[in-house]
Amino acid sequence: MENKYINNNQAYNITGFPEINSQKNAEDIIRKLKLVIEINSYITKSLEGEEVQKRILHQLKRLLNCEASSVLLVDNELSRLKFAYLSKDEEDDTLTDVNLKIGEGIAGTVWSNGTPILINDAQNDPRFSNKVDKKSNTQTNSVIAVPLTVKGKVIGVLEAINKKNGSFNSFDLEMMQYISTQSAIAIKNAELYNMANTDGMTKLYTNKYFRERLSEEWERSIRYKHHLSLVMLDIDDFKNFNDTYGHQAGDRVIKEVAKIVKSGFRSIDIPCRYGGEEFTIVLPETSLQEALIVVERIREKIEQMSIEYNDSYLKSTVSGGIASIPDITTKDHEEFIDMADKALYHSKNTGKNKISVYRQQMESYDTSV
Ligand code: GH3
Ligand code: MG
Ligand code: MG
Repeated sequence: MENKYINNNQAYNITGFPEINSQKNAEDIIRKLKLVIEINSYITKSLEGEEVQKRILHQLKRLLNCEASSVLLVDNELSRLKFAYLSKDEEDDTLTDVNLKIGEGIAGTVWSNGTPILINDAQNDPRFSNKVDKKSNTQTNSVIAVPLTVKGKVIGVLEAINKKNGSFNSFDLEMMQYISTQSAIAIKNAELYNMANTDGMTKLYTNKYFRERLSEEWERSIRYKHHLSLVMLDIDDFKNFNDTYGHQAGDRVIKEVAKIVKSGFRSIDIPCRYGGEEFTIVLPETSLQEALIVVERIREKIEQMSIEYNDSYLKSTVSGGIASIPDITTKDHEEFIDMADKALYHSKNTGKNKISVYRQQMESYDTSV
């Protein structure tokens, strides 16, 4: 057949698609097409950004029959390429602090050139860097890396590592390019969604988002009898703080407290800026005892915080309140908020810089300090 080229004993036609020349081969192509369609469907489902990427990577591994796949994203502030999503959960933590400069390694080269790379002999390729292999204790033999592009700008790189039987071929590359388009759309969608729901100053979720999510989580925990904890935090004597150090110094404190709040919780928790210097955190499937431990740790961290600012050090404290289902019964999520709020005000009224738990039985409270 004209315009046909052979790669790894597999025939491909001009479109890069494998030729259908047997029943088995036809079944394989149908299976692959189904996977591609499935990947496409993730984009239109209202899934969380991370969930979409994880599913895309999982299907990509099956589609290409390779050992691992990952998404690296450009961190514009640091001018580095960082691992954002990995097909293997166990590697999530290992690679968090690995990053690549522009032009460094295969992914860095794809970032700088904006064109895909397919290699089947990575260890002997001059562009290859073994930095990631060393960190994850693996060996990369073959790799396809394609750019994730939005409006002509490379925002990241999609990688498939180590073909299981044989070498990556041009069909694999074609599939990767198609999937990278879907993946980039999903990343951009998630970014837009996040931007609409996050507060510009603290990067925590907005009050509106908090109410939507709390309402959903409240319904879910009532229906399935799951634990659900709600935390409210409020910076102590902040009016006074602003009067003493100025509004800008106050903003620095809010941002720093927000950072501590954000880093102290799991990715499924929902930390929000409730109002000016007030924060709420929704903790799905978290018991009162578990919530109390986490929140108490955060209160201590904030107490120890010391921010260098114009030749002085800024310090602050927070008070908090916790309400938890099923320890208490609530008629709706608004009442749930009200109870956490009451516990918070108990902390305020009994000396501040402490966490209180709302106890319904006798409208009493336990405090941490
Ligand atoms: P309490 O310990 O009882 O919470 O005392 P407080 O002074 O913190 O009381 P209150 O909650 O009434 O006051 C909050 C103050 O926080 C008032 C407001 O000027 C300040 N504030 C709210 N939002 C911001 C902000 O974005 N930046 C700064 N710098 N200050 C803010
Ligand atoms: Mg307040
Ligand atoms: Mg306050």
